Amino acid sequence: MLLALPLAAAALGAWAYGTYEPNSPLFGRAIGRGSRSGRVAYLTFDDGPNVGATERILETLAAHQVPAAFFMVGEHVRRFPAVARRVADLGHVVGNHTLRHRKLHFCGPGRIREELERAHEIVAGVTGRAPRAFRAPHGYRNPFVTVTTRRLGYTVFGWTFGVWDSDARVSADEIRRRVRRKLRPGAIVLLHDGDGYDPDGDRRRTAAALPGIIADARSAGFVFRSLAELVS
Ligand SMILES: [Zn+2]
Repeated sequence: MLLALPLAAAALGAWAYGTYEPNSPLFGRAIGRGSRSGRVAYLTFDDGPNVGATERILETLAAHQVPAAFFMVGEHVRRFPAVARRVADLGHVVGNHTLRHRKLHFCGPGRIREELERAHEIVAGVTGRAPRAFRAPHGYRNPFVTVTTRRLGYTVFGWTFGVWDSDARVSADEIRRRVRRKLRPGAIVLLHDGDGYDPDGDRRRTAAALPGIIADARSAGFVFRSLAELVS
């Protein structure tokens, strides 16, 4: 019994690591960072599309010729199909972020299949392109997630750092400052153009921070590249 305790604790620790650590390889590989050679970084936006923020973010990206990836919530795509289509038409990566932004770690295989396959169908139907990248809401995964992402042929992404831009108390200037402080070669930057649970959530602060984020990164010698180059 006494001997079994540390084993149980270790197993629980491993399970928690695989579940809550967005880049953990325990439940299948998740890409959390690109190559560290050269000053390359990747911008990713989660939980859209969103009427107040996504269009503005697209304008900034176009003005500075920066590619990005958007991990979209299926229900939001269904609600704002024109915004989702525009993201895809501009050549950005559109990834699957589940149907309803459900935390998947306690879900069984049926629910997980539904969340991923329904979102897959909606994104493919609306944008005309089948998504090839997946990011789990909050990064939470379990072995059933891996089964489904493999079947759908997805590359699974985590992230290098987030800046809590979804917290309403964080200003656009603070979002910008946090990205500047944390940016590293190969970083996959997690930002939010939407709210996973509220399709009308306000992400205008992230949109307002973006021109400064791009300017800071460029003056530090960084080049933003498309996440597509990490999709296999
Ligand atoms: Zn999310």
